[in-house]
Amino acid sequence: MRRKSVYRFAIVSVCLIMILAMLGGCKGNSDKPQAENSANSNSKQVTKQNENNVNKISFTPGTYTAESKGKEGSIQIEVTFTEDQLTDIKVLSQGETAGIGDAAIDTLKQQIIDGQTLAVDAVSGASETSAGLLAAVEDAVKQAGGDVAAFKSNVVKKPGEGLTEQLTADVVVVGAGASGVSAAVSAADKGAKVIIIEKTATIGGASNLSWAGKFYNSSASVNEGLKVNVEQEIADWIYNNHWRVDAAAIRQYVTKSGETYDWLADKGYKTMFMNFAGEPLHVLPAYDARQELLRNMLAESVEKNGGQVITETTAKKLITGTNGEVTGVVAEKKDGTTLEVTAKSIIMATGGFSGNKKMVKGGFWF
Ligand SMILES: Cc1cc2nc3c(=O)[nH]c(=O)nc-3n(C[C@H](O)[C@H](O)[C@H](O)COP(=O)(O)OP(=O)(O)OC[C@H]3O[C@@H](n4cnc5c(N)ncnc54)[C@H](O)[C@@H]3O)c2cc1C
Repeated sequence: MRRKSVYRFAIVSVCLIMILAMLGGCKGNSDKPQAENSANSNSKQVTKQNENNVNKISFTPGTYTAESKGKEGSIQIEVTFTEDQLTDIKVLSQGETAGIGDAAIDTLKQQIIDGQTLAVDAVSGASETSAGLLAAVEDAVKQAGGDVAAFKSNVVKKPGEGLTEQLTADVVVVGAGASGVSAAVSAADKGAKVIIIEKTATIGGASNLSWAGKFYNSSASVNEGLKVNVEQEIADWIYNNHWRVDAAAIRQYVTKSGETYDWLADKGYKTMFMNFAGEPLHVLPAYDARQELLRNMLAESVEKNGGQVITETTAKKLITGTNGEVTGVVAEKKDGTTLEVTAKSIIMATGGFSGNKKMVKGGFWF
């Protein structure tokens, strides 16, 4: 009996099915009165003014070097102070994840300087990098004789706090990991206006850390002479996992993964095929190429079709109608603005399925 890899790139194919079901069957609030705003009329209302609370802090002017541990090693910085301000943060060296950690450093640097504060939120998806940078800046504040506690207690309200923006779409997707991107692109390709919301600054979620997927009987696999007996594969998988699996989900994955690979390849997300002792492994594109590939996929489908890709925006709660049906999502943008998106279909693709006992017990998503 062959032993099967634990990693199954099921999600993308599951999404394809979900999106077909949702577009075809899910009514959401389509029969209900729509939100007053039309698709392109974003209304912004100021309901309160921002007030900053910034302590006056004195420093010994000069430039100080400091260092702290990030996710991938040391982050070394040089921080410049005048008598009463932190004016510049230069990164001397860092090895954080390209496109994620380094972007977080840039974002935080600016927030620290603008707010004259260490009371800034860690960048979502780069919490260790954020903590490392903040610790290094704190050390520099100390070296410059600044009052760290006062610097930490400077409160700068986000410019969008108190503002609300409303959008409508046919489909709103929450989470731009592999599942969310696949769902959004599939829906847009079928003509839907899609809004995809992602809490981090990065598209791709955990797939950015993955190295390969198994796609059964993809064109690449068959062209290389590896054609898997689908029924045998499903039977082996169930047997090897002592029948403690969702057989329908496995069938879905094994039968759909090949065409999902072909779909991805067609979208430009090309992988390298490997016949790994009879296993159809598809090695994902180089790590640093993935952001551009995924963003291009979204640009060519979601954005071309009038939709939007909104990053650094965290969904906070669902909007429900009178019968309990989900009609939208309330999210918070990076600048503190509340974003309300109403749509006919809402797709939650926020990952973390295996961390939720109730969902695991309840079976797969269909
Ligand atoms: C280190 C690592 C290595 C792996 N290697 C492999 C591999 O080699 N092969 C393989 O097949 N699989 C691998 N996996 C598993 C695979 O990467 C995941 O199963 C898959 O990427 C999950 O995709 P997803 O879109 O469902 O979830 P995620 O990738 O988790 O995406 C969810 C997205 O939702 C966003 N989000 C969450 N909450 C909110 C919110 N409230 N508002 C807005 N956005 C939100 C998150 O920021 C994230 O971008 C690996 C996983 C890890 C962690």
